[in-house]
Amino acid sequence: MPELKSLYSEISACQRCSLGRSRTKSVPGEGPEDAAIMFIGEAPGFHEDQQGRPFVGAAGHFLEELLASINMTRRDVYICNVIKCRPPGNRDPMPNEIQACAEYLQKQIAHIKPRLIVTLGRYSMANYFPQVSISKIHGQAKRVGGVLVLPLYHPAAALHQPRYKADIEADFKKIPVLLKEAAAVDEPPAPAGPKGAEQLSLF
Ligand code: URA
Repeated sequence: MPELKSLYSEISACQRCSLGRSRTKSVPGEGPEDAAIMFIGEAPGFHEDQQGRPFVGAAGHFLEELLASINMTRRDVYICNVIKCRPPGNRDPMPNEIQACAEYLQKQIAHIKPRLIVTLGRYSMANYFPQVSISKIHGQAKRVGGVLVLPLYHPAAALHQPRYKADIEADFKKIPVLLKEAAAVDEPPAPAGPKGAEQLSLF
């Protein structure tokens, strides 16, 4: 894990944007380096900033409940954010902050090589599906540059707006099937087996 460790050290000392001055702790991300699923949230909030860990506040508790609904725990998955430091007052991330952090996220993805990336919220989704409304595409997985990406509402949105709760709960239930399908595509093509993305029965 030396590569990830040195990335985490770099992130903890990062001063690429002004959030480096206002944060308490940076929040690089956590999880097994061979995780099949990577969850990408937006930005650390108050509790994450205090603890240096992603999704440890109310949204994180809900994320843990959602994981439990598919018989998983947070120890089974890799969890990180688009930006690694808390924007003051939990405001939305700014384009220059997303840009400054982009290389860290790219390195995490390149190292973990997840089979399935689950984006949580609009800012995370925009990396893969720019200019699209999350209300139109949530729960619809697509293969982007060789990895399967499932856009979901942010768990915090679902906590604050009950109309999203049923959607994120239903979308989450698709994860086990998608993982199996992604694994089948990863395997060397068998003579009569699935051969590529076209044959995925995505939702
Ligand atoms: N919301 C996020 O997007 N990320 C966190 O780590 C916590 C809350």
